[in-house]
Amino acid sequence: MACSFNVPLNKMPKLVIVPTPIGNLGDISARAIDALSKCDIVLCEDTRVCSKLLNHLMIDKKMLSYRDDNEERQVQKVIELMEGGNTICLTSDAGTPTISDPGYRITNACRKRNIPVESLPGACALITALAASGLPSNGFLFLGFLPNKTSVRTNMFQKYADFDYTLIFYESCHRILKFLKDLQNIMGSTRVICVAREMTKLHETFHIGNVGQVYCDTAKAPIKGEYVIIVAPKRFKFSL
Ligand code: SAM
Repeated sequence: MACSFNVPLNKMPKLVIVPTPIGNLGDISARAIDALSKCDIVLCEDTRVCSKLLNHLMIDKKMLSYRDDNEERQVQKVIELMEGGNTICLTSDAGTPTISDPGYRITNACRKRNIPVESLPGACALITALAASGLPSNGFLFLGFLPNKTSVRTNMFQKYADFDYTLIFYESCHRILKFLKDLQNIMGSTRVICVAREMTKLHETFHIGNVGQVYCDTAKAPIKGEYVIIVAPKRFKFSL
């Protein structure tokens, strides 16, 4: 792809989207390590989290903070760095950047300026959970984090209750039980779901069954860590 600005060919810059592990450091890919080693600058949400990974990989690299609250401001700066010939790796604290994480604005800005974007495949919590859930995976809708407000959340559940495909959500430990209670109230206690917690980590758990049962199982286990919730379509039955 031709770039619309003038840099020596051997310094043709690009943005490389680099997924990082969602728990297990062993999940970093060889291509991700190669990209992090060769780039000029690493964009990261939290420089302390990124430093830990880079130290683990024995990579010494300049980092630039790129978070939800400074993303808009940083885009222009990052574009100027790339137009100056710098190749930049975009990372986030965990998983694939841009997926419920910052990154969309910089990839969009690169596309508009014909700056090449290379996207490396890698860890992503929603795909890891869906693949292991045993729930229908031929089609799905990922809705990320729902808003905190109960009325907004229940409206969303109502809107998608009869959706023909699997639904996927992200949730924190602070709201998981409230989330499941609201889900049960709107979609009924027999709706089949999967709650995946702390995947790839020491305390990984998958609870699969109807919402009523999974609520009890989730409540009995320690309420901490990170959660993905997968909701099967209404027609789907799960029996042994
Ligand atoms: N970009 C990430 C990805 O590719 O999945 C997601 C980032 S989002 C800010 C963080 C949310 O992802 C967590 O609150 C949780 O819902 C989910 N998540 C991330 N890691 C997880 C894990 N190891 N187990 C379960 N859920 C996880």
